[in-house]
Amino acid sequence: MSYSVKFKYTDECFVYPKLIAAVNTLCVKKGKDCLCTSGYRSLAKQRLINAQSLAQRKSQGAYQKSDGSVYTPDGKCWAAAYGKSNHCYCIAMDITDSWFQSLTNAELKKYGLVKPMSYEPWHVQLLKHNGISQKQKEAIRDSVLKGEGKDMDVKIFQSMTGLKADGIAGPVTKAKAKEVLQCCQEILGNNFKSAEEVIKATQSNPGIWLGVIKTLKYFDRFVMNIVNKMGGCT
Ligand SMILES: [Zn+2]
Repeated sequence: MSYSVKFKYTDECFVYPKLIAAVNTLCVKKGKDCLCTSGYRSLAKQRLINAQSLAQRKSQGAYQKSDGSVYTPDGKCWAAAYGKSNHCYCIAMDITDSWFQSLTNAELKKYGLVKPMSYEPWHVQLLKHNGISQKQKEAIRDSVLKGEGKDMDVKIFQSMTGLKADGIAGPVTKAKAKEVLQCCQEILGNNFKSAEEVIKATQSNPGIWLGVIKTLKYFDRFVMNIVNKMGGCT
């Protein structure tokens, strides 16, 4: 039996992979699953969350400041300003399961984890991210969103896509990978159906992939692997 964290909202699963891995290790050790009710928050998601917060409490006199933050009439911050939360930088997860909320920092330390705010016992981060600069946070966010870092494994892929994270690439996981791949190809705009289509397209219009080589870290190595397999570029 394998235990792991699942994301409630798949659009929030873009979290620093080592944080997900640390939470999964904790789950296995405790023999319990848990649910991440909030992970990465994009600007669009923050706008939505803050608008909902405002709507919920508007009748009680809640108001929104120009930085996006929402306040209750007695001056309590109900929703943080845009870009202020560590959730915007892919380095925080909210896990609301009661067993998780009752864990102390002394316990979490063994897993490289910490709850930086005592009044938010659901909010967890990696210890090593304590005190990092705004610039470092932005760099982490950019690398996570670009899918960089070599820490993605089967288990993390399963967590991110809402599957049972047992680390085994069985039929369900493979089916999900195909589904995701299809979606990635649609996003990238090169939804080729056969190798022949790919070769024809790149030969007649090399510009299709010249840009991708610059933006996708692994892509040049991937191309060179093919060239090496062929024994040169003929
Ligand atoms: Zn949080």
